[in-house]
Amino acid sequence: MTATIAKIIWLISGLAWFALRLVPRRRSRKTPVRYSARGLREFALLAASFSGLGIMPCIYVTTHFPRFADYPVIPALSYLGIAVEVVCLWLFYRTHHDLGDNWSVSLDLRERHTLVTTGVYALVRHPMYAGFWLMALGQALLLPNWVAGPAGLVGFGILFFGRIGREEAMMTAAFGDEYRAYMRRTARVVPWLY
Ligand code: SAH
Repeated sequence: MTATIAKIIWLISGLAWFALRLVPRRRSRKTPVRYSARGLREFALLAASFSGLGIMPCIYVTTHFPRFADYPVIPALSYLGIAVEVVCLWLFYRTHHDLGDNWSVSLDLRERHTLVTTGVYALVRHPMYAGFWLMALGQALLLPNWVAGPAGLVGFGILFFGRIGREEAMMTAAFGDEYRAYMRRTARVVPWLY
């Protein structure tokens, strides 16, 4: 395992994730929204996440900046990173399948929004965010650089902690007791733990 191979693997998993989202993104444009909590705050949170998971690692992979923060590749960590990326892609595939037309890149409620509590949504109530945590972890394990590697954990962490309370409040306002009961029986991202 070399740094170049690890970078290529990171790039391939990023492209696979992008490809997985093409159809949901096209479908979401056609599904009318009845309520949206988008605004400057959501925009800033999405920008933070996109910077950490996309822009920073892309700059590193293509230009090798910031070189001073490099450390030697540890093959065991790279292999673990590959395994994490595989689970992450599987989780994205499942969450998009289960969430269907209810999916949004931001905080929206669709016109015929339904509360999904089955499939991977029976395990945790934010499996897609669990997928993003895995993506960020995979990045940290695959990119041997103290800045570009952990950037995804920081960027997505800002989005996650800045959004999660508001998303759950929005879902509670929309689905009332049904969502409250769902919250009582599920954890947020790690089954039984958190
Ligand atoms: N937080 C979820 C979904 C992320 S997509 C996850 O991590 O899997 C964000 C959109 O999904 C939000 O706009 C919200 O309207 C919708 N959403 C979140 N949980 C949902 C659920 N259990 N059923 C249906 N829609 C949901």
